[in-house]
Amino acid sequence: MTETGTAMTGTGTGSTKETGATMTRTEVAQAVATARVAATAWSRLSPADRAGHMLRVRRKLIDRMDDVVATIVSETGKVATEAVVNEVLVTCELIGWYARHAPRLLRSERVGTGLLAHKSAEKRYEPLGVVGVISPWNYPLVLAMGPVATALFAGNAVVLKPSEITPRVGLLVGELFSSMDEHPGIVQVVTGGSETGDALVRSGADKIAFTGSVRTGKAVMRAAADTLTPVLLELGGKDPLIVCGDADIDRAARAAVWGAFTNCGQTCMATERVYVVEKVYQAFVDRVVELTAKVRQGAGSGYDIGAVTHRGQLSIIDRHLADAVERGAVVASGGKPVDVGGRPSLEPTVLLEVDHSMAVMRDETFGPILPIMKVRDEQEALELANDSPYGLNASVFGRDRATVERLVSGLRSGNVCVNDVMVSYAIPALPFGGAKESGMGRSHGAEGLREFTQIKSIARDRFGLHHEPQWLPLPPKLGSVIKIAMRLRYADRPWHRLHSQGDHK
Ligand code: NAD
Repeated sequence: MTETGTAMTGTGTGSTKETGATMTRTEVAQAVATARVAATAWSRLSPADRAGHMLRVRRKLIDRMDDVVATIVSETGKVATEAVVNEVLVTCELIGWYARHAPRLLRSERVGTGLLAHKSAEKRYEPLGVVGVISPWNYPLVLAMGPVATALFAGNAVVLKPSEITPRVGLLVGELFSSMDEHPGIVQVVTGGSETGDALVRSGADKIAFTGSVRTGKAVMRAAADTLTPVLLELGGKDPLIVCGDADIDRAARAAVWGAFTNCGQTCMATERVYVVEKVYQAFVDRVVELTAKVRQGAGSGYDIGAVTHRGQLSIIDRHLADAVERGAVVASGGKPVDVGGRPSLEPTVLLEVDHSMAVMRDETFGPILPIMKVRDEQEALELANDSPYGLNASVFGRDRATVERLVSGLRSGNVCVNDVMVSYAIPALPFGGAKESGMGRSHGAEGLREFTQIKSIARDRFGLHHEPQWLPLPPKLGSVIKIAMRLRYADRPWHRLHSQGDHK
């Protein structure tokens, strides 16, 4: 999947220089050391002051939007509108949400002390130090800026390693932080492929936030185990979309077409397989085929979707298509190779007569293929949706609340969209992440911010007594007194049941 070539390295100080694509372990170690120095002053700022800096970075992103969008388009082959909406806008909203909420979410909290009424207890959310962010090529801005910004809001410095396929977008991210003159080096960018990524994982960074494939995610976790470096893993998906018997077919079809083909299908939470209850199957298929024929694919303005970004990805897509056809799938729309601005790609393709023996229904395709399978009822759809090692996102289209709720609860998935697709990612307050092999940990929301903190739990003695009953020497009757007290406190009596409801406080 690697395309090497000339890359540039840059730092948060704004200095950029031409260099080879791969940075060495020593250079990565230097970047981590520089970030560690910068982290000290940054971590001492109040969350509100950090938010002020981050809003200035957002203004800089808006000032440089045309440059950023052009770089994304030239490195990925996506259409400019996709870059504006799905990358720049989503990034800006995330920064705005954390600027408003991080000060509250990072405030220390008092907690109850239960039986130990003579103590007080507090939890604090402290920065980790230096966070290593490793990002993929499919949304090179938002998937770099998202974790970088979140780690910064939490008080950390960052070393970012962008994908080797989109290094210039990564370097632009570094440049956006160059306006922070008082905090030089707070964001370092290191370029290169798997070796550079591995060097970052083993660099002594305090956490690794990785977004990429399941295979690489497992390698990252194995490497991180050597130093017990914590990892946040946002990995691949094989997202199902279920169409219930009473669904709004037009909306479901439009959603499936956008969910499968936006960004030319190269989205972790793309609609990768559809299960349609038989009584609405034909109507849904007809509408999807009709809409797919109208999708405009090309490079430049006036198109809905762009290209498959690189040849390595295209070969996976082609293999899935060939395997499906060989096993009996029928191409209902598209299916032909196409050149998009010099990038070999595939037309938006609809497949019917598919089943779970086919790679296209089991493995992540990450391309413009929409396989649709007819099912008896919603229960069969649920079982097939869960028949996957992935569990990133799922969608349910239907009207009956009880049926929809049964499906939402039954889906083994980190995220579920109802009568919608992919939209959960664009809600900054909503934690995003995978179940099963789609990852661990969460981005966005309170949980995503606290991923980049160390929780410090502090218990304090309140009254300064000379002695605690359990301290040495042990009082001779302590064990028997405690036993009596426990029998009184925990025995199954009605007033105890009432009392135990307050035990969690
Ligand atoms: P990838 O796993 O090939 O590479 C991701 C990053 O890891 C790149 O920067 C790469 O250089 C680096 N890398 C490679 N080997 C490494 C190693 N041994 N140690 C450390 N880093 C290493 O993924 P990709 O092809 O760039 O991106 C596509 C994948 O990302 C798809 O599977 C997609 O579903 C997934 N993805 C997930 C999310 C999510 O939020 N869950 C979002 C976007 C993409």
